[in-house]
Amino acid sequence: MEKADCIFCKIAAGEIPSKTLYEDGRFRVILDLKPATRGHALILPKEHAANVYELPEEAAAESMKLAKKMAMLLRDKLHCDGLNLVQNNGEAAGQTVSHFHLHMIPRYKEDGQKINWIPSNPTQEELETVRKEIAE
Ligand code: AMP
Ligand code: ZN
Repeated sequence: MEKADCIFCKIAAGEIPSKTLYEDGRFRVILDLKPATRGHALILPKEHAANVYELPEEAAAESMKLAKKMAMLLRDKLHCDGLNLVQNNGEAAGQTVSHFHLHMIPRYKEDGQKINWIPSNPTQEELETVRKEIAE
C-alpha cells in the first residue's frame, strides 16, 4: 500500500516522473537525482516499507535478486570497474528518505568517490563481547 506522504511511493507508482531503468509489478529502478557516480541507481519496492526492519522477507529476497540483475546490466552497459551496493537505515546511518531503497553505485577507477568507513582496532576480548551480545 502506498503511503500518502512518501515521495518514493509516488515515484515507484509512477505518479512522480523519474528516470526509470526498469519496472515490474513489485519494483521500480530509477537513476538517483544526485548521483555519486555515473549510473547511480536506486531499487525501490512499490510496497512501502520504511527500512530493512519493516521490509517483508520476500521483498528483501526479491530486492537482492533484482540487484544482481541490475548489476550485470550496469556492468555491461556502463563498463564500470566496480559496484557498491549500499542500503541505509535510520538517520544515524545516513538515511534521508524513509522508504526502503537499495543504492547501486557503479565505480570507476579514479572516480574520486568515497563510500567508506574508518576502521577501528578492537581487542579480541572486545570482539568476543560483542559476538556474545549478538549471538548468544
Ligand atoms: P538515502 O540517504 O539512503 O536515504 O538516499 C536517498 C537518495 O535518494 C539520495 O541519494 C538522493 O539523491 C535520492 N533522491 C532523493 N529524492 C529523489 C528523487 N526525487 N529522485 C531520485 N532520487 C532521489
Ligand atoms: Zn513509501
